[in-house]
Amino acid sequence: LLRLRDVRKTFPTGPGRRAGRRTVLDGIDLDVDEHRCVVLVGSSGSGKSTLLRVVDLLEDVDDGQVLLDGVDVADPWVDADAVRARLAMVFQSYNLFPHLSVLDNVTLAPRLVHRRPRSDAEDAGRQMLARVGLADKAASYPDQLSGGEQQRAAIARALVGGPELLLLDEVTSALDPELVGEVLDLLLDLRAEGTTMLVATHEMDFARQVADEVVFLHDGRVHERGTPAEVLDAPQRERTREFLRRLR
Ligand code: ATP
Ligand code: MG
Repeated sequence: LLRLRDVRKTFPTGPGRRAGRRTVLDGIDLDVDEHRCVVLVGSSGSGKSTLLRVVDLLEDVDDGQVLLDGVDVADPWVDADAVRARLAMVFQSYNLFPHLSVLDNVTLAPRLVHRRPRSDAEDAGRQMLARVGLADKAASYPDQLSGGEQQRAAIARALVGGPELLLLDEVTSALDPELVGEVLDLLLDLRAEGTTMLVATHEMDFARQVADEVVFLHDGRVHERGTPAEVLDAPQRERTREFLRRLR
């Protein structure tokens, strides 16, 4: 489904034309096949979010290919909206619209972007809210929900358009510890149903449970990759070991 080939991304180190550039993605190769789950791990600043943002076309690349079913979506001529309709991203901060009800948050894109009739979009929206355990919160506003409920609403919003690939960036790291479990359980269910995912997380137990492949990023490179058992339980390289040691 998704293939990254030698993806490179730099950011300016400061303002102005004389600023240098810092390499944040330094030749990334990555495949996410249909119904698979790839988990990105690595220290803060290793490039996980940037990689997800590149896939979601929120950042352009300096070099390399981002192939969705073989079509290079990094090509400026590509129809970005059509690409984004196939992907959905959920962020650390849930980014719900505070002035819209939960149901309106979930149905906004289907109605405005995909021009689905309101009743049709609301049926789909209610079904998705039921799916994430929020059937009774459709009329509530985001600030009336707990953090875990807000994040589940954000996941419902991401799923309602039927994306082929779900991108998740640290979706539990803003939550109180007692709320993390309900969101991770939902993601485990989605995995069990075969949802294709590319996930950045600091939750190693979760990574172990969902990942087909764990990719350890360091300084914008894939430093080590393999099954969770290989990378998380028997890392081959010193930096990976050091990273895992620091988490304990
Ligand atoms: P974390 O675990 O803290 O979320 P991360 O692995 O997601 O970290 P990124 O957010 O991808 O890391 O950042 C990688 C590097 O790119 C960092 O050094 C960051 O400062 C830099 N960076 C990210 N976005 C920008 C930007 N818009 N302009 C300049 N530098 C940026
Ligand atoms: Mg990040």
